[in-house]
Amino acid sequence: MTRQQIIKDLKQYFKASELVCSHIYARWGESSWQFLDTDYLSALLVIRRDILKSAMICNNASMTQRGMRCNRCDMVKSKATPYISAHILGKGGDFTVKGMTADQARQKIKANAHLLPCPIRIENGVNWVHFDVRPQDNFGGKVYEFKA
Ligand SMILES: [Zn+2]
Ligand SMILES: [Zn+2]
Repeated sequence: MTRQQIIKDLKQYFKASELVCSHIYARWGESSWQFLDTDYLSALLVIRRDILKSAMICNNASMTQRGMRCNRCDMVKSKATPYISAHILGKGGDFTVKGMTADQARQKIKANAHLLPCPIRIENGVNWVHFDVRPQDNFGGKVYEFKA
């Protein structure tokens, strides 16, 4: 599947403004898709369309830093030490899934890991679903679980 086709399909479920911070969207608008990693987008499409099959909320009117973050985001500006997370790299996001808890969503993703187009990392112990595609060196599985 080409990147172009992945984005076209994802647009049925997400707006660019939901996946990047308000600063990025204000500056680049619909071109903001360019910053999002292809593996991340292809995993997001499969998780949304084929695994969870339910609305996934990233950014909305009141939450604007759950997707890609930039240097103007408070969560980035406030860091006293270097901060390079999947959110900065356009390789991850935090989601609320309609109709299920974060734990239920994580279980469903793990149970359907064979459908994922690439390995992902998921964060455990939080009440949102963080997943990203940052490479996890020396891990041969499909779903790497970590605690921040
Ligand atoms: Zn920002
Ligand atoms: Zn996160």
